[in-house]
Amino acid sequence: MRYISTRGAAPELTFSEAMMTGLARDGGLYVPAEVPVMAPEDIAALAGLSYEEAAFRVMRPFVGDSFSDEEFRAIIGRAYEGFRHDARAPLVQLGPNHFLLELFHGPTLAFKDFAMQLIGQLFQAALAREGRRVTIVGATSGDTGSAAIEAFRGLDNVDVFILYPHGRVSEIQRRQMTTPSESNVHALALHGDFDDCQARLKDMFNHFEFRDGVGLAGVNSINWARVLAQVVYYFTAAVSLGAPHRKVSFSVPTGNFGDIYAGSIAKRMGLPVETLFVATNQNDILHRCLTTGRYEVDGVKPSISPSMDIQVSSNFERALFDAYDGDGNAVAQLMAELKADGGFTVSQGALEALRATFSSGRASEEETKAAIRDFHARTGEVLCPHTAVGVKVAEEHLGAVPMVTLSTAHPAKFPDAVEAATGVRPGLPAHMQGIMTAKERVTEVPNDLAALEALIHERRAR
Ligand SMILES: *Cc1c(COP(=O)(O)O)cnc(C)c1O
Repeated sequence: MRYISTRGAAPELTFSEAMMTGLARDGGLYVPAEVPVMAPEDIAALAGLSYEEAAFRVMRPFVGDSFSDEEFRAIIGRAYEGFRHDARAPLVQLGPNHFLLELFHGPTLAFKDFAMQLIGQLFQAALAREGRRVTIVGATSGDTGSAAIEAFRGLDNVDVFILYPHGRVSEIQRRQMTTPSESNVHALALHGDFDDCQARLKDMFNHFEFRDGVGLAGVNSINWARVLAQVVYYFTAAVSLGAPHRKVSFSVPTGNFGDIYAGSIAKRMGLPVETLFVATNQNDILHRCLTTGRYEVDGVKPSISPSMDIQVSSNFERALFDAYDGDGNAVAQLMAELKADGGFTVSQGALEALRATFSSGRASEEETKAAIRDFHARTGEVLCPHTAVGVKVAEEHLGAVPMVTLSTAHPAKFPDAVEAATGVRPGLPAHMQGIMTAKERVTEVPNDLAALEALIHERRAR
């Protein structure tokens, strides 16, 4: 399996090379040169398998020669053994034809553990084999950082630096990043918003001297291996509901477009997905783009679903690449316009292609709170604010096709928003209570590339 850049001007790579590289050298994102299709009988055969075995069968063709079958099976087994539910991604019914896919049973209580735990084990195996050491730098709006730290803490051959927007993550998210005591973990609180964190990270990747000097590797949601890990639960959920004989739609709380893009890969692999609903909060650039064709940045408005407070949605570039039929020049031009003018217009043909797979909806702050409150009143269960955005959008589209809303985090990660909406303060699971009193370790950093690079040079182990 070969991987190519969405901007058409970077070297082709293998799976493990693309995983280590993160961002392509032409500024693009790696995608598989072609997407393998699963026959309906192979999809049907996933029914009743363990999550791990389903994961092996869905992901295997994408991995190529980078890992043997035995290695890959063992890696998957280690990745998910720390999850606190035997089904890993259980499906629960919310109402008539509406289901919730619970993706918060991993070690940091958010869906990002699915990808991050796998990528931690994949890195460990690949680096040990090559005798190499890398510096992982990640930007986070909250959940990616804690998931990355949890996946890489204490691993040999890796230093992990996480940039998060100072004062803009929840207390639990911050503590998950600042309390691990392993010396290879470095939490950096950047004076700026999430888009600043993401922009500085991109700058580091585009500064080749620094990139090569520290062996920079990325684990942000642009990393192909993360997208791939997320494809699996679309299959397990849809098969539980009758795929391949029955179609299924998904409502996906969306920020950086990684999770929902994985759903589009599942569809291209042959899973009968009717519609993927992009559910956004008040930071609704994707909803506006799918509605009007114009992608236009207009500043982040902090919300009660902070992991979706994003304007520049990195993985959308992959969907554009698909919608433009793999035309890397066209994508490079759109991205140049975005950088120069803060926006671009999607061509009519590409917009139609996007709408063949994606639809969208938006929840305001009031609507999100109302969704948490109503759901609690109706069922006694509490939703995290991100999941509530997905539920609200899903409820506008319920019909004959089963709808699965992705439940992206445990409500206890966002206790203030949940308590404000319901009057109930969700408690942390017992195994996590220690972080509330553990000592925090964090360095505040300016929104400045040279200062960040100097700090990373100084802190990393050699
Ligand atoms: C990251 C995150 C999202 C958004 O996922 P993307 O892949 O960035 O679209 C939604 N909900 C939660 C809880 C998250 O952590």
